[in-house]
Amino acid sequence: ATNAALPDAPKRLQHWIGGGWVDSADGATSERRSPAHGVPVSVAAKGGAAEAGAAIAAARAAFDAGHWSRSSGKDRATLLLKVADLIDRDRDAIARQEVLESGKPITQALAEIEGAADLWRYAAALARTMHGDSHNSLGPDMLGLVLKEPIGVVSLITPWNFPFLIISQKLPFALAAGCTAVVKPSELTPGTTVMLGHLLQEAGLPAGVCNIVLGYGDPVGEILSSDPRIDMVSFTGSTGVGKRISAAASATLKKVSLELGGKNPQVVFPDADLDAAADAIAFGVYFNAGECCNSGSRIIVHEDVAEALVAKVAALSRRVPFGEPLDPRTQVGAIISPEHLAKIDGYVRGAVAAGARVALGGAALEVGGLGAQFYQPTIVTGVTPDMPIAREEVFGPVLSVLTFRDFDEAIALANGAAYGLSAGVWSRDVSTCLDFARRVQAGTVWTNTWMDGFAELPFGGFKESGQGRELGRYGLEEFLEVKTVQMRIGATRG
Ligand code: NAD
Repeated sequence: ATNAALPDAPKRLQHWIGGGWVDSADGATSERRSPAHGVPVSVAAKGGAAEAGAAIAAARAAFDAGHWSRSSGKDRATLLLKVADLIDRDRDAIARQEVLESGKPITQALAEIEGAADLWRYAAALARTMHGDSHNSLGPDMLGLVLKEPIGVVSLITPWNFPFLIISQKLPFALAAGCTAVVKPSELTPGTTVMLGHLLQEAGLPAGVCNIVLGYGDPVGEILSSDPRIDMVSFTGSTGVGKRISAAASATLKKVSLELGGKNPQVVFPDADLDAAADAIAFGVYFNAGECCNSGSRIIVHEDVAEALVAKVAALSRRVPFGEPLDPRTQVGAIISPEHLAKIDGYVRGAVAAGARVALGGAALEVGGLGAQFYQPTIVTGVTPDMPIAREEVFGPVLSVLTFRDFDEAIALANGAAYGLSAGVWSRDVSTCLDFARRVQAGTVWTNTWMDGFAELPFGGFKESGQGRELGRYGLEEFLEVKTVQMRIGATRG
């Protein structure tokens, strides 16, 4: 029944440059097959230097013309709200395309599109409340103004794991600020970003204000990180690529905003509500098949309750419905690519070779009638801090369990990774939670919960998890320059 729901023909995807939809000059394309079904689901134009250059020129010209960059916050907000309504209208179609290209479950894709629409509405509110500052106490004949201006032309480069949500953490905020943009989605999941481009056009965004170039990191992403006509790069993806982008951007001192990987600890104290913790741990590691920067993949549990907690998480894990992502009952879908599946399995094999134990799962799995690109919900116990599975991002449905004896050891373990994206603490004692929240090195701390997200609250990483913030007012400020105006007043009067 589900195969009948697959598309007859792959979706054709074009670049959006200067208001027009175009193929690549050399006719190059790349095909994307559904990770769960193995059928072609999109054929995308594959951009090169010509397309990247044309898109940057269009964004630069649109910015300099001023019809968007100097428009009123009210006009910009009106357009962003229209886009949000169009996203709502097309929610089902966008979610389906997201499922077909990424392999994620349909209910999670629908939630992602709904969350994205909310971000467009939130950014509209920011566009109307954007303001600077004035200083009236600099002396009798001086007035100081602090103006906020759009930073200019921005490159927005996004990954494959939440394609529609992540572009919506960037683009509406950049547009609210008055910037113009060149967007490059992941080559694995370009479809929903192209659908968004069509909605922006339908909403009446002037030509060239947003451009989309489809293609790979080399050459498109590299050009978008180095071209002197670009003022800022906002990137979400792996830490390795983030470092390359930062280096490429440094030649022209572009501002760089980076949302990178995580190895997020959840610390469970002995007084915690273990049922609630187990629930959140199972959700936190299997959500999006673990292909999530916020995956709560590193459990650090007090040794007195470790056995009980693992038993509870294992019981929940055995019941997690996985398989056909188009089935609304499914909670764990397919892994993005065969290469990535092999990488996940490699971490588990490596941990076992180093003395850890697989308490549950631990192997790829063929789901009846579908391709072989699934990985079992997996729990690895007896993990020590030196093992790669405890330090590196696995990006799969794999939980590593470490134990601790006292608070200081828990903090040391939690802070022991190079990453610092998010962290969790489970305890009924509010001062334990607050003490942990203040000492852990992470951009977001969840206490007795995991992975809640709000448009109002900033999100970003400490250490090698990135720099800059998205969401909240901070998410707008990233795209703004600060200009100081010092005025001598009354000086010409006699
Ligand atoms: P990736 O770094 O491989 O690719 C991300 C994007 O960068 C893609 O569009 C890719 O084409 C492009 N790219 C590749 N090489 C480039 C180069 N040299 N210059 C410019 N662009 C280049 O990441 P991925 O595999 O798509 O996504 C998974 C990673 O993203 C994980 O590490 C995950 O933690 C991270 N992520 C972070 C957040 C966050 O908010 N912190 C959110 C989601 C994903």
